[in-house]
Amino acid sequence: MQKGHIGVTTENIFPIIKKYLYSDHEIFLRELVSNAVDATQKLKTLASVGEFKGELGETTISILLDEKAKTITISDRGIGMTAEEVDKYLNQVALSSANDFLEKYKDEANAIIGHFGLGFYSSFMVSKKVEVITKSFQEGAQAVKWSCDGSPEYTLEEVDKAERGTDIILHIDDENQQYATKAEINGLLKKYCRFLPVEIAFGKETEYKEGKEEETDKDQIINDTKPLWTRTPSELKDEDYDKFYRDLYPMSDDPLFNIHLNVDYPFNLTGVLYFPKLKNNVEVQKNKIQLYSNQVYVTDSVEGIVPEFLTLLHGVIDSPDIPLNVSRSYLQSDGNVKKISSHITKKVADRLEEIFKKDRKTFEEKWDDLKIFIEYGMLSEEKFYDRAKKFTLLKNTDGKCFTFDEYAEVIKTNQTDKDSQVVYLYTTDVLGQHSFIEAAKNKGYDVLVLDGQLDSHFVNQLESKFEKSRFVRVDSDVVDKLIPKEDAATLNLSEPQKQDLTTIFSSQVPNIDKVNFIVAFEALSETDVPVMIVQQEFMRRMKEMSALGGGGGMNFYGEMPDSYSLVVNGNHPLVKRIIEDEEKEVGEKVATFRGKVESVEKRRAEIEKAKEGKKDEEIPQSIKDELEEVNKKVTEINAKKDEELTTFASGNKLVSQLIDLALLSNNMLKGEALTKFVKRSIDLI
Ligand code: ADP
Repeated sequence: MQKGHIGVTTENIFPIIKKYLYSDHEIFLRELVSNAVDATQKLKTLASVGEFKGELGETTISILLDEKAKTITISDRGIGMTAEEVDKYLNQVALSSANDFLEKYKDEANAIIGHFGLGFYSSFMVSKKVEVITKSFQEGAQAVKWSCDGSPEYTLEEVDKAERGTDIILHIDDENQQYATKAEINGLLKKYCRFLPVEIAFGKETEYKEGKEEETDKDQIINDTKPLWTRTPSELKDEDYDKFYRDLYPMSDDPLFNIHLNVDYPFNLTGVLYFPKLKNNVEVQKNKIQLYSNQVYVTDSVEGIVPEFLTLLHGVIDSPDIPLNVSRSYLQSDGNVKKISSHITKKVADRLEEIFKKDRKTFEEKWDDLKIFIEYGMLSEEKFYDRAKKFTLLKNTDGKCFTFDEYAEVIKTNQTDKDSQVVYLYTTDVLGQHSFIEAAKNKGYDVLVLDGQLDSHFVNQLESKFEKSRFVRVDSDVVDKLIPKEDAATLNLSEPQKQDLTTIFSSQVPNIDKVNFIVAFEALSETDVPVMIVQQEFMRRMKEMSALGGGGGMNFYGEMPDSYSLVVNGNHPLVKRIIEDEEKEVGEKVATFRGKVESVEKRRAEIEKAKEGKKDEEIPQSIKDELEEVNKKVTEINAKKDEELTTFASGNKLVSQLIDLALLSNNMLKGEALTKFVKRSIDLI
């Protein structure tokens, strides 16, 4: 029997492995099973080139659990190892500058294992003793047994072994007993080994006999050796893709589309990606793509490997060029990984364009679900925008879909303003902005529906991309001003009438928390609405961006009250009637106050004139006093005038009714104000 020291330069590798690799203990099984797969495939390769002339026979890898003895045995019928090979591969572990490296990557077991080529040694993370019984495929080879109890000493002796191949026997240590259970091993095999290319047997198949589940004597194969993505697309039907999807994500709805990736130059990559039918919450759906390397599961957190927006997709990516055992930060800076990322983006765009061209009807039907991916992609990847602009759809309030070019053609004539800018009208709330949409449609305009989660950002992006164009929300102004054409009609109101109406309306606007109203006048036609409420496009967008978490100064807008314009149509008969009523009821009094204010203001103007060009100390005190007196008077008389107008306004049902109607069509009439409105409406009827 040979005895010796494992050749590591650091004092003792095992304590280091145990100490640092706590987080990912479970990968030991993946490492050992994939070694077994490698050994099996190597033998198959040798057989195919004629270097191995014996019988391949059964090559299934078996996992054996002895729950009593707390051992796990992984047996393969691969190439096996000679005594020299055991010495070379298992005893000579080159470990340089180990401590520095371990310190740096102590939370990333994958990185450590990969760095040192320590796949096999990961078994010591969970074992107090590991035995390797192996017999090389070479003719006349002597089987050997290597054994090591976690100290640097090992033993190597000749043993009898009938079959070629390797048995690895793990004696699970006290801290890791959970791994010596059927459920745990099943779970790990399901996670890491589900699609390995060599059959793996664990336990026995079960069947139901008289209502009871019983083990048969047939080995249970836990993996699918030819998963869908390794097969040729031309052999596969839609059902196959859907079935594979259901196997991967049993809880999800059927996917919208799939993309079969098959690249062999400049790197190797296969996979199937799916556009899932998304539920509302984008975040929750992320990280469903599984990453494999030669059918060995690596991770399901693919950030940095695929572009951010594609993390919303589901499916599988397999590439031997994605290094298996490296740290995440290394992965993200790896040149191959970067190429893979941009390649996947391109493939996804190609596939979408293909579906769009071949089957536009289906594409349109699925648009509402697809939209979020495409917009996300366009917003986050310039390259994707350039490809997607050919097939991205804009949908209008009638449910019709247009490409960018088609839509520009539709609105070009009717929706170009006096400065030759094309105005894209849109709504964010088809029901809430109904009256505005109707008004725009009556004018022959088309209105887009942009009510998605990302649409406010998307509008900004399109505005920066489309030339001589802007986007205007349909309720941001009165319909005649949405797309200013030529000079507007004249307003038939005198200055005093405007002043009075301002007081009358602003005194009756209900108090709404964090909302400001400013009364404004427009000369609209007699058939337009008498009063309407609009919100400035700019302010509204700023607030929306801030609500979506736009950075920096955006918070400032978030804090501001919502500012609306209460637009009074000065030409409407009902507004005219309010003026008539006012003149009848309080006209004389108001006129008297206005007369007084005018005469006091005349005096004020004289004083101001006398002060002109003089320094403060040159002005006599008496003049200063008088100015103060005069100012006070103006305020006083105005207050009295406003009181008169307010009393009138509060007794005039028409004023409140018009305000409430405007609020109502903006969905802003709530609570007590709404109750009052209903009551008043009945009275008026
Ligand atoms: P890696 O697999 O990264 O080379 P490991 O530490 O897992 O590193 O294995 C070291 C070497 O030991 C392998 O390259 C292989 O030559 C040999 N080896 C490990 N497991 C087996 C096995 N089951 N059958 C044959 N050879 C094996």
